[in-house]
Amino acid sequence: MKFKPANNIQDLQYFGEFGGVNPSISDSSTYTFLSAKTMFDTFEGNAEGCYLYSRHSSPSNLYLGEALAAMEGTETANVSASGMGAITSVLMQLCSSGDHIVSSRTIYGGTYAFLKNFLPRFQIETSFVDITKLDTVEAAITKNTKVLYCESVSNPLLEVADIKGLAALAKKHHLKLVVDNTFSPLSISPAILGADVVIHSLTKFINGSSDTVGGVVCGTQEFINDLRNVNNGASMLLGSTMDSLRAASILKNLRTLHIRMQQHSKNGLFLAQKFEADGLKTVYPGLKSHPSHELFKSMMNSQYGFGGMLTIDVGTLEKANELMELMQNRNLGYLAVSLGFYKTLFSAPGTSTSSEIPEDEQKAMGLSDGLIRFSIGLDDDIERTYQMMYDCMKKLGIL
Ligand SMILES: *Cc1c(COP(=O)(O)O)cnc(C)c1O
Repeated sequence: MKFKPANNIQDLQYFGEFGGVNPSISDSSTYTFLSAKTMFDTFEGNAEGCYLYSRHSSPSNLYLGEALAAMEGTETANVSASGMGAITSVLMQLCSSGDHIVSSRTIYGGTYAFLKNFLPRFQIETSFVDITKLDTVEAAITKNTKVLYCESVSNPLLEVADIKGLAALAKKHHLKLVVDNTFSPLSISPAILGADVVIHSLTKFINGSSDTVGGVVCGTQEFINDLRNVNNGASMLLGSTMDSLRAASILKNLRTLHIRMQQHSKNGLFLAQKFEADGLKTVYPGLKSHPSHELFKSMMNSQYGFGGMLTIDVGTLEKANELMELMQNRNLGYLAVSLGFYKTLFSAPGTSTSSEIPEDEQKAMGLSDGLIRFSIGLDDDIERTYQMMYDCMKKLGIL
């Protein structure tokens, strides 16, 4: 039977403290013990079901982690205060001074800045490569390499990583394959395809209401235990802990993720096909013209579609800015960074979310000035949305 991540979430059952249909929120930072001995055992991690202090763990955070692990098909998961909180703790857990990372060059700007500018302070160096070329990836591996890092669908260029191929390379060279799956929740299940660690920024599609930041690391029980170790665990000691109230609200939103992803994907595919037919340079993994369309198809859980992210290139930054302002004026969405909201969000990555990447490197990876990144919303009448976007582009001479 094909793995169905949403079914796995559906199979979880919770009861609140008073029989509520939602788990009760643990509104406490610290927990009492009837015996001092149990407190010691809990601190050492040897008292199953006992809580000590909410940076270590809390019932609400464990519930959310359990649901996300079920979605990704991993043994367990650890939620964090943000996506960057998840990414930084995973990399610092896996790498020590002298180690090396091979990373995709098209990744989230914050991750890029962390690898490029921050980790070298600890003598951890990164080689940035074209992740779609497995031979280039392998050639960059050195005897010090510990981690292969990529995004399943990359930000902002929507390159698709061959996760099975990368997993085989990781296995051959005894590396950990770490995959950020923020752009393609449900559609792609990296752990099922061989990734060792799967990360999400929950801020985006998974929470879906643009009201909080959050992150998660999905992996083996052993790795998550390492992250949470009170003596040397990066999540524990760097302290990017999610608040329980937020964990409870994200868990509630997670339950509609499969319906939302289907609508994001349906609308994304519709607009991408229309824009492409109009002659716009359009990138969307669901288009046959996408260089990795077949690869995406071979990896995807097809019922959730190709996702809600697409890019178009309107030639210049001036045109891009004019178009985005006009679309916002006509209430077609917001000129805002981030993704996964019910409204369409659009931004020019070169001057916003990828501005950490120097201009010459942006050019080298094909990130052009006129690029607009869209996170397509849940619009019920996408035909009308298209007509209105078309009118905006006509008015500005883009079409
Ligand atoms: C937003 C984002 C992040 C960072 O997540 P935060 O929740 O903002 O810390 C990491 N990776 C990708 C692909 C993202 O889109």
